[in-house]
Amino acid sequence: MKDIIILGSTGSIGTQTMDILEKRGGYRIKGLAACKNVDVMEAQVRKYRPEICCMYDEEAAAELKVRLGDISVKILTGMSGLCETAVCGGPGSLTVTAIVGMIGIEPTLAAMDAGCDIALANKETMVCAGHLITSHKWNNSHFIRPIDSEHCAIWQCLECGRKEEVSKILLTASGGPFRGKSRMELENVTAADALRHPNWAMGKKITIDSATMVNKALEVMEARWLFDVPVDSIEVVIQPESIIHSAVEFRDGSIIAQIAPPDMRIPIQHALYYPDRFDSPVERMSLSKLGSIHFEAPDMEVLRGLPLGMEAASNGCGMCTVFNAANEFAVAAFLEGKIGFLKIYDIIENCMREIPAPREPSLSKIFELKENTCELVQRLVDSL
Ligand code: NDP
Repeated sequence: MKDIIILGSTGSIGTQTMDILEKRGGYRIKGLAACKNVDVMEAQVRKYRPEICCMYDEEAAAELKVRLGDISVKILTGMSGLCETAVCGGPGSLTVTAIVGMIGIEPTLAAMDAGCDIALANKETMVCAGHLITSHKWNNSHFIRPIDSEHCAIWQCLECGRKEEVSKILLTASGGPFRGKSRMELENVTAADALRHPNWAMGKKITIDSATMVNKALEVMEARWLFDVPVDSIEVVIQPESIIHSAVEFRDGSIIAQIAPPDMRIPIQHALYYPDRFDSPVERMSLSKLGSIHFEAPDMEVLRGLPLGMEAASNGCGMCTVFNAANEFAVAAFLEGKIGFLKIYDIIENCMREIPAPREPSLSKIFELKENTCELVQRLVDSL
């Protein structure tokens, strides 16, 4: 039986991964990691009995140690603990990276070094460090299994042809809760409005990113590295029902799409058990009952996350890091009620204009860019 490690086990992707593992089996849960959520982690450790568990936050790790005094489990903390957990399955094990944020980069690199397979949900790893991940030495039989529904769809579509036959990647987007709204209508929307996604139930940060269309820009950056394609061969198409998860157009004009209900457990299951397919973890979809599927071009005027992100993507990982970090801090300020929804775009744009960023930054430069961006966002938020 293969070992599996889940980084971010207490989050939206992490808990759904645990659900799939519970139903389907086939893996031994060897390591779990999260940041602060001691309640959920305690319950997971008691139920799944991993050998290693990491709470990034030191106080949370200390609290967990007290609570789990009756159980034999190695409890770690901090970045070293996260990396030790990521690699604890050794060669041939599967590390699921479902942490949110750039903190996911180092454990992913560590797991690659240790010869683990990777199932990747953490977008920021490819967005900020795609050049480091794809040039990192890894056994040739390994490849990153994308969990993000769009990338999991593209992965499946690409299996229908050869790489040199691909003419375009069609990355689909629901358009989020604010599709079709004017600037005026968005002037006073609240976090509660933005958190009401029409089709998907996800973590808070990614739900706001869907409303701004920043999420789609991050997915373009992720796809560019995951599938080694130029940014301008990726086209974003709005598909409001979130039924077509993405598609690939081949040179003969054939478009191969992946269609499934909008439920993350389907791509998670695919990534965990590839190349096998098992029964659907969710209710099947009837196309005849669905009736129709719609398409439209994305709004590049009001929801400016996509054009700003495309610009960053064509300037390399340094600018993508600035884009991503500016968004992360701006979204946090929006969720705290400190700035309005549209200010998220102004802050991102301001950071992109002010902060010089190399195309292929080193790991330390990536974190320096993040720091510089954080300082600038703070000044911008304070000045509003
Ligand atoms: P959540 O906010 O629901 O969960 C985040 C997880 O990361 C939690 O387990 C959290 O731990 C953990 N975490 C946060 N900071 C740290 C840290 N410093 N060290 C260790 N663990 C940490 O996020 P999601 O599950 O929604 O998203 C996870 C990633 O997957 C993101 O990159 C997102 O973009 C991507 N993704 C998510 C999708 C979704 O449907 N949710 C779809 C596609 C991609 P704790 O709970 O203790 O704070």
